[in-house]
Amino acid sequence: MAGPGPDPDSGAGLRVAVVGGGAVGVTAAYDLAVAGADVTLFERGTVGSGASGRAAGVLYDAYAEDVDARIGARALERFRELSAAEPAAGSGVEGFTFRECPYAIVAPEGNDDLAASVRGAAERMRVHGRPVETLPGAELGDRFPGLRTGDVAVAAVARNAGWADTGRYVDAVAAHAEAAGAEIRTDSEASVSTTPPGVTVASEAPVTRRFEAVVVAAGAHTRRLLGDAGIEIPLKPYRVQALVSAGAYDGPMWYDAAAGVYARPHPAGLLAGDGTVPVEADPDDWERDADDWFRDEVTGTLRDRAGHDPAVERAWAGLCTATPDGDPLLGEVADGVFVAAGWQGHGFMRAPATGEILAAQVLGGSGVAQFDPDRFDGDEAFEIREGMRVEAGEAGPDPDGD
Ligand SMILES: Cc1cc2nc3c(=O)[nH]c(=O)nc-3n(C[C@H](O)[C@H](O)[C@H](O)COP(=O)(O)OP(=O)(O)OC[C@H]3O[C@@H](n4cnc5c(N)ncnc54)[C@H](O)[C@@H]3O)c2cc1C
Repeated sequence: MAGPGPDPDSGAGLRVAVVGGGAVGVTAAYDLAVAGADVTLFERGTVGSGASGRAAGVLYDAYAEDVDARIGARALERFRELSAAEPAAGSGVEGFTFRECPYAIVAPEGNDDLAASVRGAAERMRVHGRPVETLPGAELGDRFPGLRTGDVAVAAVARNAGWADTGRYVDAVAAHAEAAGAEIRTDSEASVSTTPPGVTVASEAPVTRRFEAVVVAAGAHTRRLLGDAGIEIPLKPYRVQALVSAGAYDGPMWYDAAAGVYARPHPAGLLAGDGTVPVEADPDDWERDADDWFRDEVTGTLRDRAGHDPAVERAWAGLCTATPDGDPLLGEVADGVFVAAGWQGHGFMRAPATGEILAAQVLGGSGVAQFDPDRFDGDEAFEIREGMRVEAGEAGPDPDGD
């Protein structure tokens, strides 16, 4: 990992706890350790055992909104840097590889509003400097013979995109964080306290360790964890699903905006998903297997869109987190206590940048105003909205512009 990041020594001597060893937590831990902070990361299971290890690893900066586009671009820059770097010496972890691959957002014929939304979103992405082309179906087919495009009205094709094994990212960054001096404590379920910030590990209770800053990046458990410390945030976990299907596929990544299904190449064939269940899930009691309806719908779309005859090797679910406005909660919620959650299904691809922003905030820097958790009281009632959709009639995909 390289790049600007926080200045070395800007965190010298600062005692920081990070709760949660997903993509966001390990990235923040790494950046803070590089800045000289004394970092301890607490993970209740193994690193990557939350949503990050279950994610599809579709990565792009094709966002229609300027803040998202900037964050997406920075994240891709860091993914590529990590991909080019050697694994942390002596860590024994495998290297992380970013696989370049274009990403096509496809609007089939028969829905003019959807086609207009895809065109509008691509235009806004270009305004923000993102390399995105708008292609009619025939041209998409010439470009990517692996796709079935006979019914495609229009597609937005993003060049700055790729895919990766998400577990390897978490392992690789955690190893770099350790090499930079962070302590990574697995099997350490933590609770959080405030004034002063502290962490109590279940197996050490009632001993509470004090820190100058505590970062909570605990994915689906974040609301419960902060709620127990008296801090209310509006965050709801919900299930999304993915599957791996065997069989050759040599095409781009794609998102069929009408079917609401995405796919990317995978060493076994294709990895496909979405399968959002927009219902609040219990982070301690949820169904980890994929639903039958999801398998049926996705395999149907794989046949139609990629001419791929599916042989499902495995299918699974994981938890994403939603906020009232679809933007994340990233910043300080009490003196010295920071939150990072609410990625609406797009937390992995942004983690190298959001973890970096979080680390900078802990070190006294400013965050992203749009993501400030203070914009909510914490007790808002709201519906879970699918993170990945292109809304008919809107100028672009909502809410993240993908
Ligand atoms: C099927 C699926 C496909 C997805 N595909 C994509 C994709 O293609 N691209 C993309 O950008 N995003 C994708 N996502 C979303 C992505 O996985 C998440 O947004 C992202 O991984 C969130 O990272 P995180 O570090 O915030 O949380 P997590 O990875 O969930 O990490 C939180 C960690 O906190 C730990 N924890 C919880 N409570 C405690 C506690 N009390 N003490 C200590 N540790 C605790 C958990 O064990 C966990 O390891 C997908 C998600 C799923 C489920």
